Amino acid sequence: MLVFTQIGPLKAYLSNQKPQQSIGFVPTMGALHAGHLSLVQQSKASNDLTVASIFVNPTQFNNPNDLAHYPRTLSLDMILLEQVGCDVLFCPHADEVYESNEAIEQYNWGAITHSLEGAYRPGHFDGVITIVRKLFSWVRPTRAYFGKKDYQQCAVIKELVNRFHLPIMLEFGETLREVDGLAMSSRNTRLSVEERQLAVRVSKALFEAKANHQQLASEAHQSMATFFEGEPLFRLEYIAIVDQANLTPLAPNKPTTGSVALIAVWCGNVRLIDSMILQ
Ligand code: AMP
Repeated sequence: MLVFTQIGPLKAYLSNQKPQQSIGFVPTMGALHAGHLSLVQQSKASNDLTVASIFVNPTQFNNPNDLAHYPRTLSLDMILLEQVGCDVLFCPHADEVYESNEAIEQYNWGAITHSLEGAYRPGHFDGVITIVRKLFSWVRPTRAYFGKKDYQQCAVIKELVNRFHLPIMLEFGETLREVDGLAMSSRNTRLSVEERQLAVRVSKALFEAKANHQQLASEAHQSMATFFEGEPLFRLEYIAIVDQANLTPLAPNKPTTGSVALIAVWCGNVRLIDSMILQ
């Protein structure tokens, strides 16, 4: 695997590839797990060259404590990427990615950027869009791979590609889960033993809503909330049942079939998010 830490050499290497060669791109923030690696494998199956990036993007963290404690395991990540046959790893330094005092553009694409994660993490998607635009402009991928675990992020990236007419095919990979159902996440390593046991309730709530997808949105909402009630280690941010495409909330008296349920909850000091299509 070739490793680039600077933008110039990465661009030079990629522009020397034959024009008909397809490039698959998997952007990550590292601390890789099987969910990330499944995206790399999907890219390898459909492209001549697979590029992964590892960059803990400071502009998408609205919480400095979260940024400071974000797990960083670069040497292990490199071994894992080698094992799945990733061709190129790009891990740039923040001071080359961002000019000092660079102003971060603000994007308001309605519910897609401003509901849910956008409401609870102000500026988060401005940071995501900014870094993804930069990475896309350097890598110029044929296809780019994102995980459905970050459902709203997928919607934001789809909107980005449409609005800017980017010639990139988007592929959204299924969420990989631990044996008990918890969605794999780099942040899971920060859960205590007790928190880890409780964390499974997030996926349990979603699986139950999926199994009962004919129920009304109000009923689904209520029954998912019971998974978090009376447990002081949980601090619920949102349970939402929304339209798959535009993320607007489903009316309480509508059956949930075909909508998507999303949950964000603090479990101790770790913020967990997960989502599921209800059908
Ligand atoms: P991150 O490093 O958390 O920014 O994630 C990098 C990419 O991996 C994003 O597109 C995520 O949606 C995706 N991803 C994260 N967790 C999972 C998972 N459990 N299963 C599949 N994809 C995931």
